[in-house]
Order: sequence, then C-alpha cells, then structure tokens
Amino acid sequence: MKRKILLAEVSDQLSMLRKISKPIKEFGASTSALATDMFDSMHAAKGVGLSAVQIGVPERMIVAEYTEAKSAVPKMVLVNPEITWSSKRQVLDEEGCLSFPNIYGMVRRPEKITYKALDPKGQIIEGKASGLLARIIQHEIDHLNGVLFIDLVEGDLYTYETQNDTKEI
Ligand SMILES: [Zn+2]
Repeated sequence: MKRKILLAEVSDQLSMLRKISKPIKEFGASTSALATDMFDSMHAAKGVGLSAVQIGVPERMIVAEYTEAKSAVPKMVLVNPEITWSSKRQVLDEEGCLSFPNIYGMVRRPEKITYKALDPKGQIIEGKASGLLARIIQHEIDHLNGVLFIDLVEGDLYTYETQNDTKEI
C-alpha cells in the first residue's frame, strides 16, 4: 500500500526524518508488508531508493530498484544494513531526495562499497556495489542515522525548471 513520503519542509515530518531508526529484530509478515509498502510508495513517487523512516517508520530497512537501461539496480531490500568497506576513491555527483522534491545538490561519496544486511526473512546478505547503487545504499543508510543529503552537499542546492534525469532517493 502506498504511503505518504515525509517532507523535510514540514517541521514535524523533519523531526521524524532526523530520528535514528531502530534495528529490526523480528522477521515475519510485518517485515514483508513494510517492504511492500516501501516499494509501492517509492514507485508512486518515481524514486529509486527509500528508507522506512521516509514513510514514518523509524526502523532500519531500505529498498532500491532502478530498471532503466545502463545502470540497472535489481529490486533490493536491506534490513539493518551496514557498510563494511568503502573505496578511497570518491565521486562527486548530483543527488536528490524524495523528502526534498525537486531539490538537488552535489554530494561526494565513496565510489564503491561492500555491505552486510539481512533480507526480510532475517537471512544474512553480503554484497558489493558501485555507481548508482553504491550511492543509493549510502544515502539510505544516512537516512537511518538521521542524516540528510543537504548535510553533505558541496556548494548550493538548486532546482530545475524542467524535468531532469537525476532520480530521487
Ligand atoms: Zn533521501
């Protein structure tokens, strides 16, 4: 079920976005239902990544999915995700966020990471990511820690008059 994505410009929604999300300890129908709601909400907003706190659930779950050509990201759910390694090489790229519609900025992040997490059934997953997926995972884990991309932006935030290609996460 699609849920409303919290907006940083609304003060009580911003205070939820600044909360530190709690680890998920029980796995079952409610974990799968949360993941489904997150995909529905993310798809409705045409985003490519989402953290549970962005739909008002301060629990450590993130999702990502991007099916357009080139940098495709498979449908992915990570529970209690942790970054276990990140590359020294960093990339400065444009980033947007579903909680800041049509606001963008340049954020520097490690180009590659390895991560560890649980799937919605509580099984351990380990993986590596680069490019857009690495950026999404880092952005969403920041959300779980109450960190927003505007905290990391280099230079000014900006908007576009017309549609641009950067996906919000
Ligand atoms: Zn975001």
